[in-house]
Amino acid sequence: MSRFILHSDLNNFYASVECLYNPSIRNKAVAVVGDADKRHGIVLAKNYIAKSYGIKTGDTVWEAKQKCNEKLVCVTANFERYYYVSKLVKQMYREYTNRVESFGIDEAWLDVSDCVKDFEGAFKLAEKIRKRVISEFGLTVSIGVSYNKIFAKLGSDLKKPNATTMITKQNYKNLVWNLPVADLLYVGRATNQKLNKAGIFTIGQLAQTPLNILKSMFGKNGETLHTFANGEDVSAVKIYNEKEQIKSIGNSTTCPRDLKTNDEVRAIISILAESVARRLRDKNLWCNTVCLSIKTNDLKTFETMHKIEYPTNLASVISGECYKLFNHNWQKTIRAVGVRVTGLGEKPVQYNLFNNEQTMQKKEKFEMVVDALRGRFGYNIIKRGSVCASKDLKELNPENVVHSIHPLSFFKL
Ligand SMILES: [Mg+2]
Repeated sequence: MSRFILHSDLNNFYASVECLYNPSIRNKAVAVVGDADKRHGIVLAKNYIAKSYGIKTGDTVWEAKQKCNEKLVCVTANFERYYYVSKLVKQMYREYTNRVESFGIDEAWLDVSDCVKDFEGAFKLAEKIRKRVISEFGLTVSIGVSYNKIFAKLGSDLKKPNATTMITKQNYKNLVWNLPVADLLYVGRATNQKLNKAGIFTIGQLAQTPLNILKSMFGKNGETLHTFANGEDVSAVKIYNEKEQIKSIGNSTTCPRDLKTNDEVRAIISILAESVARRLRDKNLWCNTVCLSIKTNDLKTFETMHKIEYPTNLASVISGECYKLFNHNWQKTIRAVGVRVTGLGEKPVQYNLFNNEQTMQKKEKFEMVVDALRGRFGYNIIKRGSVCASKDLKELNPENVVHSIHPLSFFKL
């Protein structure tokens, strides 16, 4: 049976939601930032007007303002709002199919094979959904229509904002093959570099590279790359399930004393990340976004987040990514720290294929052994060296800190 798959991507989601809540900023350059009062905060998202000034995600607020003569409207991120709107939009998608698979907060695949009979029907349905998103939510969405998830995702990237792009078995060579190979889902930086070194720059070149060469370069993953580039991916769109209703998992703690050095902050982040990762593994979930919350000694709270390249349930990855966020942003004395993960889903079959899967599996096994040891003998049976270095911090037990599944409950000790 032919498959018809849509991939929908809400355009500039965070900034668009903020404009809904405050229409007076709609025609201005808008940036969603970790904290609007802090010039050293970073831009998490921006609208097209801000983009036209060259403002990028990751710019400091200070840099971003320089780029547009201080005309930038900075809004502090309201993740609750984004989850809420995202949930409503996905509920609407589910009127058409129960196969709605979230990919982060603003993207989803929909398998509409049961409600249309050909590509024309799939395109019409995508257009209907696109118009409903505008009229019912005041948001725009880019939709890709194709016969596999990989090309549907590429399609949604081709025209932005507010457009539908169809990639069929007839037109995919024209539409897809000239695109850089890095546009292909799950081709991360390392894979891209390796391909480029071998003279493979476009998806078309990848598709036409003999399978045995790709296999010799990437092992089993070479086969997957070949499959993706040729539109032969057969992975199913997952059925919407309740697990996705758990929006995030997080832990936070107010430290026994103010933290002054980077090493102390790193140690606390790793304790929290361990307990977040254990809870992810308990629920058989993986995350694709990490968030770091910091409360400074003047009692101001900041949260900043980052989408990671490959979904994970590993403490080492979560703490590493969180620490990167910390380094970017904070130089102050810190009273409380929170680690939270979102973008939760089931085990990603292909997601970590390119990220040295064996190493990841080894790390996962190791962390599960630690889980089991602690389950049996208590948390203190095994500890990180970085934590033991400090007398008072080593008494911290993440099993006693606040567990939240909800960003607003952070720091309410
Ligand atoms: Mg988007």
